[in-house]
Amino acid sequence: MPTGTLTIDLSAIVRNWRALDAMTKVETAAVVKADGYGLGAARVARALAGAGARVFFVAIAEEGAALRRALGEGPEIMIGSGHMAGDARLLKEAALTPLLNAPEQFERHIAALPGHPFGLQFDTGMNRLGLEPDDWGAIRGAALAEGPRIAISHLACADDPSHPMNSAQLSMFKQMIADTNIPASLAATGGTLIGPAHHFDMCRPGIGLYGGLPFADAEPVVRLSLPVIQTRRLSPGESVGYSATFTAERPTVIATVSGGYADGLFRAISGSGVLWAGDIPAPIAGRVSMDLISVDVTDLPEVPDALDVLCPRQTPDDLAAAAGTIGYEILASLGSRHDRIYA
Ligand SMILES: *Cc1c(COP(=O)(O)O)cnc(C)c1O
Repeated sequence: MPTGTLTIDLSAIVRNWRALDAMTKVETAAVVKADGYGLGAARVARALAGAGARVFFVAIAEEGAALRRALGEGPEIMIGSGHMAGDARLLKEAALTPLLNAPEQFERHIAALPGHPFGLQFDTGMNRLGLEPDDWGAIRGAALAEGPRIAISHLACADDPSHPMNSAQLSMFKQMIADTNIPASLAATGGTLIGPAHHFDMCRPGIGLYGGLPFADAEPVVRLSLPVIQTRRLSPGESVGYSATFTAERPTVIATVSGGYADGLFRAISGSGVLWAGDIPAPIAGRVSMDLISVDVTDLPEVPDALDVLCPRQTPDDLAAAAGTIGYEILASLGSRHDRIYA
């Protein structure tokens, strides 16, 4: 079967969750939006629930409903986009907790689902989602009377602990939740690492669970191995791939592996990325195409059956550096064509 093999180490995800949990004295939730950062929300969440995680965050109600089917009753599932028009049935049937972002969402929620749990999301400077101070002023009394489950906000620059936005957002969050008893959460992975001032009552890491920066001490979680479909022997002067951007300068062995930009292996790694045969790097030759990558394996002692594009020698963040992006995008783009093995 000529697909990549994506091996996902659920026990490493659990150890990463425990390691982040051990850095705080507060509850640690788990963010499993975008299908668990591409790794399979149902499998990841079930493993984490087994390890003791009781609160999960996703972006939209549809993800929450699928997660509820995977987890069953019990764990709390929070919806970052809040209560959008048309969400009421899913929120009710799957017992999801929307994080309300605007007075209109609050009014919609109270009208459609009176008594149904909700949280509040505050905008403390990221200007993306959440109640601004005037919005909060408008609904504060009515919202507090309904007993919100949680108040959250999100840090824009937590991957850089010295960034002034971290303390600015911290003080704005404190002001907005002052004189309420709502349990609060400000920290994702970055904020968890910054330290206790940002922890409040709950941290909610995502990327750190999956082995990504800024959690530099995370255990690696994924291996992506691409099978070699064919091998080519080139004479000097022959070229490889679309637009003939690679030209052999010596007798060259090219391995064609199954996987391409349709599998989240961005075309931007053409010419700069490497695949790995154990501890030996093999450079990508020419353009990454939709389903195939050509790899220069001339310097390998033999052509292996498969080459690794993600492995302990090349983390999602390493590959991201070659693609000019971040580890989050590498993981979230992996797609559904790889054969998935959960270890
Ligand atoms: C994605 C997200 C998280 C998790 O962030 P990481 O950087 O992956 O840890 C937490 N909270 C909110 C609101 C998010 O959107």
